[in-house]
Amino acid sequence: MNVLVINCGSSSLKYQLINSDTEEVLAKGLCERIGIDGRLVYQKAGCDKEITEASMPTHKEAIQMVLDALTNDKTGAIASLKEVNAIGHRVVHGGEKFASSVVITDEVIQAVEECNDLAPLHNPANLIGIRVCGELMPGVPQVAVFDTAFHQTMPAKAYLYGLPLEYYKNYKVRRYGFHGTSHSFVSKRAVEFLGLNPEDSKVIVCHLGNGSSISAVVNGKCVDTTMGLTPLEGVVMGTRSGNIDPAIMEFIAKKENLDISQIMNVLNKKSGLFGLSGGLSSDFRDLNEAAEGGNQDAANAIDVLAYGIAKFVGGYVAAMNGVDAIVFTAGIGENAIPVREKVVSYLGYLGVTLDKDANGHRGEEIVISTPDSKVKVAVIPTNEELAICRETVALV
Ligand code: AMP
Repeated sequence: MNVLVINCGSSSLKYQLINSDTEEVLAKGLCERIGIDGRLVYQKAGCDKEITEASMPTHKEAIQMVLDALTNDKTGAIASLKEVNAIGHRVVHGGEKFASSVVITDEVIQAVEECNDLAPLHNPANLIGIRVCGELMPGVPQVAVFDTAFHQTMPAKAYLYGLPLEYYKNYKVRRYGFHGTSHSFVSKRAVEFLGLNPEDSKVIVCHLGNGSSISAVVNGKCVDTTMGLTPLEGVVMGTRSGNIDPAIMEFIAKKENLDISQIMNVLNKKSGLFGLSGGLSSDFRDLNEAAEGGNQDAANAIDVLAYGIAKFVGGYVAAMNGVDAIVFTAGIGENAIPVREKVVSYLGYLGVTLDKDANGHRGEEIVISTPDSKVKVAVIPTNEELAICRETVALV
């Protein structure tokens, strides 16, 4: 069957049409600048990208343009919308209500809406995508796949914060974790690829991209993860600070005369690798080039990242009382050779040894530890769209 995977943001929308039998991507692309002016990027498998500037006042026009492109006589991937058998939506926050993917019903929409204040930028946009697809393709089953669901198996000791308990009871303030689709996909694949026993396996997944999170997975179930109530917590990211002393917020607010939303803006958009490099770039490639050219701030930013990852990995080895495999994924995890090398350099005490030649590869599924390494280390490319497609097929 053909599954349309939709990832709806506030002003953008990514999509892929996947044949679930062959797992082949028939067409993919994105709509950008929705509500501003509008641009559709469309690429049928084996063809060049087509870019069309067109007015997209709302997500409805954007999704209509995607459907027109998919069924277009010349470069369409399918003859008609009847060939779309199901739609899988990425939904960012499922709160405590959703521990797995679900077929979308009116009740599900209402429950997702109730999680809106936990992800005020993302969930409303995800819901728009769901509603518009429902209008434009009535009768086609839709599935919601949550970023938070995989982490719902965490025990209370991992998800509770040291805050007054009523904040958890009244407002559900707790660790949720994100990138769950990727952590689930990659940890499962790690067990297969590395020949681990699914019933007796301890895996650490380092999803390192523009946003980064690490998870500890025991026998396929998440027991801890670095992102929290929001994606701001954890390791240093492209522009997000990750963990800081919370008292810094008041200190800087006074020094710079900022209010809480301005402080949040700094922590989300001006910190992380971008902030550490003095505003040079949030992109690892730029920082690596600058560091190689002698820029000490860029070099420090990369060191802060690798050191922070190694500390979380060490913490999760303690949390799981051991580890069988450590896996790198996402843009930095799959491609940034020096980051992997630096992280592994802290793990000698675990008996981890890096195969430098293997670590020289980029973007491919590969074991990067030596055969005698006590813990396996691997790169496994993530594929969130394929994971959403598989979840959708399993449910419809
Ligand atoms: P993602 O959010 O997963 O797309 O990852 C984005 C991050 O991956 C950015 O910091 C990129 O610089 C980094 N990245 C992507 N491709 C490469 C590459 N070939 N080498 C090093 N870093 C890369």
